[in-house]
Amino acid sequence: MDAKSPTLSLPAQPREFGFHVGGRWIATGSRETMVRLSPGHDVPVTRITLCTRKDLDNAVAVARKTFDSRVWSGISGAERATVLLKAAAGIRARAEELAYWETLETGKPISQSRAEIEGAAGIYEYGAGAARCLHGDSFNNLGDKLFGIVTREPVGVVGLITPWNFPFFILAERIPFMLAAGCTIVAKPSEMTSATTLIMAEILTDAGLPEGVFNVVSGTGPEIGQAMTEHMGIDQVSFTGSTAVGRHALLASAGNFKKVGLELGGKSPQVVFADANLDDAADGVVFGICHNAGQCCVSGSRLIVEKSVAAEFEKLLVDKFARVRIGDPLDPRTQLGAIVSAAHNEKILGYIRKGSEEGARLACGGESVASKAGRFIHPTLLADVTNHMVVAREEIFGPVLAMITFETREEAIELANDNAYGLAASVWTSDLDKALGTIRRIQAGRTWINTTITGGPEMPIGGFKQSGIGRDTGMYGVEEYMEVKSIHIALGARDHWVS
Ligand code: NAD
Repeated sequence: MDAKSPTLSLPAQPREFGFHVGGRWIATGSRETMVRLSPGHDVPVTRITLCTRKDLDNAVAVARKTFDSRVWSGISGAERATVLLKAAAGIRARAEELAYWETLETGKPISQSRAEIEGAAGIYEYGAGAARCLHGDSFNNLGDKLFGIVTREPVGVVGLITPWNFPFFILAERIPFMLAAGCTIVAKPSEMTSATTLIMAEILTDAGLPEGVFNVVSGTGPEIGQAMTEHMGIDQVSFTGSTAVGRHALLASAGNFKKVGLELGGKSPQVVFADANLDDAADGVVFGICHNAGQCCVSGSRLIVEKSVAAEFEKLLVDKFARVRIGDPLDPRTQLGAIVSAAHNEKILGYIRKGSEEGARLACGGESVASKAGRFIHPTLLADVTNHMVVAREEIFGPVLAMITFETREEAIELANDNAYGLAASVWTSDLDKALGTIRRIQAGRTWINTTITGGPEMPIGGFKQSGIGRDTGMYGVEEYMEVKSIHIALGARDHWVS
């Protein structure tokens, strides 16, 4: 594999970032830093500041003061929308720069980064619309002497903790909704992928967001993430990441009973019935496990296929997996990029070995791609898997598909639901009754019929069971960052209690 991109070159030296609080950059100074190596090339690409707890305290104080000043929460939805639309334009103006740094830090294909940046701009536009649509309720049925109004208010200061797999897109699935609601934010991106979150702070400032509304404190999870979940000055934590750390974040947030939104892991089923268009379904299943090298929360990592077509479907998959273009993430032709870190690469390969030990049959893949630099794994199909094997139960978070067969629809539903996670699911069939009848009984927050991993900001995302709490995006996503207040208004003369 040629590690040199035909279109983009690697940076001559790592780009240095300070951090961004109160609408301005703060230099690293004497703080420690962390250098990020590009997963596809093993070269240093960024240098990130490891902020201290004092930096976090300062950022929270700025966000609190800004919230209380009402410079953002007190203006109209129309004014907030103007800033969000300018932010979308700012993203588009810097799209190529954002895509470049996103690919360098994550190892994802540049074509994918470009699509995500464009998609993210659209989410800010949706957020602008949402800011103007917020409304409450009224109750005219409380009798002639009482009238009720229900309003929504911004929750306050939100601590936003994000993972490395979609640093910019996940940010876009949160920020516009928090801002539409009128909140102020302190964000902590994954220490592996902080660049585009920091650039976003600059884009928002340039778009006219008042200083102190959006603040970024870079640093590690155990230090800054943990301090954020414990922080008494934060009203809500929005955590996206693994279920294990999410559980920790939930417990740590109990100090001041802050609201907690959790978007966690998954082991999502792809249920394929015999009457599906098998070629389409195979294409969707391959996309669902190869997109972002299987490092998506909603990767369709458990294939539950009807036994009568399993052999034919397996052949289709093996053929398609072999044709997925693996390579330099900076090459625009690449479809499957690098694995995010050496440790994660080892974890994925360990799961593949575990599958073989448990009796799964390696139908294709199973090993690393020979390359001069970076780390890549061939798309892997583990066949003859049963639902109790570790490879069917745990989130592998790599291009590894576990194939399980079923004979009846009841069995397919049971298999799909027999997992601690409940994030996403797809059903493939040409029978609409069967499709809806099945999807209605699968415990998952984001589902698809005859497609996978697609959507728009209108649609809510979030998980059932151990995949999370709460919803992001759509109008549900704005409400997530608001408190509900009921206002009771007495009408007419009071009937006195004291006679
Ligand atoms: P992770 O849980 O390791 O880290 C997520 C974030 O939490 C990072 O910013 C990290 O620095 C921080 N963190 C680490 N320790 C912390 C602590 N003690 N307290 C507070 N924060 C801490 O997850 P990851 O490896 O970055 O991301 C992959 C995981 O995220 C997968 O499980 C994936 O399914 C999940 N994910 C879920 C969604 C969703 O929408 N449901 C989206 C993307 C990723």
